[in-house]
Amino acid sequence: MVRVLESEYGNPSSNHFAGRSAKGIVENSRKSIAKLLNVTANELVFTSGATEGINWIINGAVSQHKISRIITSKIEHHAILDAVAKLSKNNNIQIDCVKIKPDGLIDYEHLDELLSENLQTLVCLMHINNEIGTILDLEKVGTLSRKYNALFFSDAVQSVGKMPLNISELPVDFISSSAHKFHGPKGVGFIYMRKGLSMPSITSGGSQEKGLRSGTECVHNIAGMSKALEISIEKLDEETKVISELKEYAIDQLEKNFPGVKINGNPKNTLYNILNVCLPFDEQKTLMILFHLDLKGIAVSRGSACQSGSISPSHVLAEFQLLEDQRKPSIRISFDHHNSTSDIDALIDALKTV
Ligand code: PLP
Repeated sequence: MVRVLESEYGNPSSNHFAGRSAKGIVENSRKSIAKLLNVTANELVFTSGATEGINWIINGAVSQHKISRIITSKIEHHAILDAVAKLSKNNNIQIDCVKIKPDGLIDYEHLDELLSENLQTLVCLMHINNEIGTILDLEKVGTLSRKYNALFFSDAVQSVGKMPLNISELPVDFISSSAHKFHGPKGVGFIYMRKGLSMPSITSGGSQEKGLRSGTECVHNIAGMSKALEISIEKLDEETKVISELKEYAIDQLEKNFPGVKINGNPKNTLYNILNVCLPFDEQKTLMILFHLDLKGIAVSRGSACQSGSISPSHVLAEFQLLEDQRKPSIRISFDHHNSTSDIDALIDALKTV
């Protein structure tokens, strides 16, 4: 990224040598990302991140494919929930929410039931839940969606770069992703749109991104995103192992030190890097816990970190947690390869003094 910022000052739309060189960086990045996810470069469009991609896919698919109903869930990211709510209010689109089971997984039978109503449908269900780490069965949801001729969009922000994804083999029509979730730069991402599908352009102007998203490309961010994904996939096996062991250690330490601690979300079906736990603490400690941990230099979250500064209770946990547990503090711990067991020891020590 630094090299691109320092020496690739051309505009990818310019025909001279500097422009062609910048264009080469953008297109090589697209090819590299496409190869790593097993899609074709033509199926990827760069965006400013997942929020833009999500809003674009939902609004675009609805208008282009004459969607009259969206099936989603109440545990999606706010980018989905808010975009869908707007469509319901302004365009009279029917919204159906699939039930969430007590372990945080979606009820696939209910999804089948909803889909069996013969409506032009877009299914919007995220791959990995960002708060509890539960994993959606993309194969199952995609197959069901195809059975009823519905389009399927999955927000894959938490899975791209974190697990092997062979997207062209999956029955998924649209995917959103954001680079900063796999250690890339902030403010850049991409959408995947299956070959043969179409969407209205999100902006009009200079016809960049094959006319779908006009505006000069953010070349250094795109280069950084491509490099970050390359490194993530290259080290995937090694880091999955290290991070899974850290999560196991954290669960073990939490259970030893705080009997009665509960894991939010099905422990057998959550991604290796997210652990959301309900602590057996007094209700009064709920509000101060994050403040206390923050003072000790420990960065964990309560609700979704994407809702900046919010201390309102998590809409995800509210969907399936027992009422008595909702009053207790729940924290979301995210691990990566920079963490070690000493970080977990520090967290345990800090929690003991709350
Ligand atoms: N979807 C999920 C699951 C997320 O976790 C996030 C935020 O981190 C987003 C969407 C929004 O991504 P961005 O802030 O890059 O637009």
